[in-house]
Amino acid sequence: MNVNFADSVGRVGFRKWYERQLLSSHAHMVLAFLSVIALVASMEAFRTASGELQELDVIYVLLSAVIGGWALRRYLFLLMRAEHAANQASCPDCGEYGRFRVVRQRPVAQELELDVCCRKCAREWVISAGP
Ligand SMILES: [Zn+2]
Repeated sequence: MNVNFADSVGRVGFRKWYERQLLSSHAHMVLAFLSVIALVASMEAFRTASGELQELDVIYVLLSAVIGGWALRRYLFLLMRAEHAANQASCPDCGEYGRFRVVRQRPVAQELELDVCCRKCAREWVISAGP
């Protein structure tokens, strides 16, 4: 999580940011799944091809594996980041979920911390945005 998190939450609100993170992460999961299908199809094509086509199939296998690995990694990153933020998004006093505004942001060591204020009861607390 980084400055984009603070800016996005400040601009569209936490709930919308969270929804977008989940949509984006699951789009990456779909891409990872499609990459596995492409990988298996390329391996099957490699088995029946010969000569230059086999070399091309090797490139497709590698390309599918790289794209699938990147998509899976991105899926997990976006999902974990969203869940990390969501676990801190409830107001400690009134329990209101995800309804806060960012008061200030400050870097702490390698992480970013946000001071946020509840829109319902004005209680302030800190959200760790992670590395
Ligand atoms: Zn509150």
